[in-house]
Amino acid sequence: MAQNGQETPQQNQSNYSKVLIVGAGMAGLSAAYHLTKNNFTDFKVLEARGRVGGRIVQIPVGPERVELGANWIHGVLGNPVYELAMQHGLVDIMAVPKQHKVVAATEQGKQVPFAVLQEIYEAYLCFLKRCEEYFISQYEPPDGIDSVGEHIKLEINLYLDKVKDPAEYRLKELLFDCLLKRETCISGCDNMNEIDLLEIGSYTELQGGNITLPKGYSAILEPLERVIPQGNLLRKHPVKVIKWNCRKKVQKLDKSGSDSDSDDSDRTVIEDLNNTPSSSRESSEEKTPPASSDYKVEIVCENNQRFYGDHVICTIPLGVLKHKANSLFKPPLPEYKLEAIDRLLFGTVDKILLEYERPFLHPSITEVLLLWEEHPNDDISKNWYRKIYSFSKISETLILGWISGKEAEYMETLDNNIIIENCTMILRKFLNDPFIPKPKSCVCTSWHKQEYTRGSYTAIAVGASQIDIECLAQPLYLDESETKPVLLFAGEHTHSNFYSTVHGAYLTGRTAAQIILNSDCPQEISVDCDDETDLSSWIQGINLG
Ligand SMILES: Cc1cc2nc3c(=O)[nH]c(=O)nc-3n(C[C@H](O)[C@H](O)[C@H](O)COP(=O)(O)OP(=O)(O)OC[C@H]3O[C@@H](n4cnc5c(N)ncnc54)[C@H](O)[C@@H]3O)c2cc1C
Repeated sequence: MAQNGQETPQQNQSNYSKVLIVGAGMAGLSAAYHLTKNNFTDFKVLEARGRVGGRIVQIPVGPERVELGANWIHGVLGNPVYELAMQHGLVDIMAVPKQHKVVAATEQGKQVPFAVLQEIYEAYLCFLKRCEEYFISQYEPPDGIDSVGEHIKLEINLYLDKVKDPAEYRLKELLFDCLLKRETCISGCDNMNEIDLLEIGSYTELQGGNITLPKGYSAILEPLERVIPQGNLLRKHPVKVIKWNCRKKVQKLDKSGSDSDSDDSDRTVIEDLNNTPSSSRESSEEKTPPASSDYKVEIVCENNQRFYGDHVICTIPLGVLKHKANSLFKPPLPEYKLEAIDRLLFGTVDKILLEYERPFLHPSITEVLLLWEEHPNDDISKNWYRKIYSFSKISETLILGWISGKEAEYMETLDNNIIIENCTMILRKFLNDPFIPKPKSCVCTSWHKQEYTRGSYTAIAVGASQIDIECLAQPLYLDESETKPVLLFAGEHTHSNFYSTVHGAYLTGRTAAQIILNSDCPQEISVDCDDETDLSSWIQGINLG
């Protein structure tokens, strides 16, 4: 592989690899890493972007390095990403957790007493817990209540009924509203009414809290990338079509080939055992399919370059599948998969980073929760910023705002100056300080607009279920006689307990690699996983416990 990620002429000579991995986010890298660790290097990773990492990406903002996607390792106990980070010295075990001081402020610039904030937060956590319990309990929710948002609202109303003072009632109501907005950023949706009540408990939280790495989450990519042979990692290779039941067989017509061990020649043609038209004949780009073996899959990239193989591990995010599944796979994916893709949610969560010349927030405050009044005008172009639920400090001069859903998608269309104006207005109003300066720069993520992501992470929408995730994860076989699948799926959207997380993506990539590495007599092979965490038994332990 040349330094710039382009193929060298030698590599271009044979576009056949036993395994083709689509996408070099955490799932794709994990698959490639585990294959390599087990001495299997007959694979290629085709990545659309000019970089690896997918939704793990870091950029400099002033003197800081900021994560635009994943930031926290969610949980320690049984988290393979945490173990990987530990193994490579990426965790600062001596670090003392920073004091987190949150204040909540109203539009009138009044700060809520901390005791009230704490009371409402604790009540809110109980309401959320009760939603999560439906997943493992036999209880039926109240009639007509399908979503987490509706259920929490019901509990909020019961709670507020006991509050007699109108001002106190109003304040507590605003606090609950703010926490619900925050929850949309955690779940990855527009509104908590979108999240299925019976299924929210399917997400398994690992114990140990949220950990950050001193060098940022992106530091986790290096130990994986380092192991993978660089020639196997092809950046700037957006995949257009995955033909997954080729069953093509090389038929030798001309025996004048120069290789004495082989009959292959320029006139080699492809016999299509399935009688589907071979598009290898249609293209002038890549005339040389594998000359020495059958192949079961053919991948066509946007630039019409073709790759051949026997197995594909597809890690394309759910957001992209929602847009492109119909044209991406030939033959089309089975109906049950397409329906699962439709039913599951892939909402938008964006970050707004504001860089300042000088600090302006009191050093002891780390986050300001914004208690927006309800607003009658639902014109998103006028109100989008009311969805920002908080501003928190990354450093004294770098502030992070969170926004989700339709408003985040609208924000992605705006000029930075408009975002700067609005954020400054918000901070001045809520902190009751007209002298808060304008930021010197602003960086906003655009996860919805990103062609190769199309949103932020997976959630289980009302009407969908964990089974949909299992359907997505299901590998596909050419026919019953095959012992190994031809098309495998990995990525956070395919992990039934850890969807939406990096560790979910990592584990699905590892599982896909294991399926490929398993011999037809599985007991003869032991797969080197490095991180031996057996999460499945651990999760069972939790469920049973
Ligand atoms: C704002 C935000 C904050 C987050 N915070 C956290 C967090 O704190 N902790 C956490 O655990 N998780 C977090 N996540 C989620 C986490 O980042 C993802 O779950 C995880 O990185 C997904 O990995 P993946 O491999 O499944 O998908 P991706 O990282 O999206 O990788 C898929 C890869 O496929 C490539 N691709 C797409 N289409 C094609 C194509 N046609 N051809 C070739 N390649 C293609 C993409 O370019 C990408 O590199 C966050 C995500 C976002 C957006």
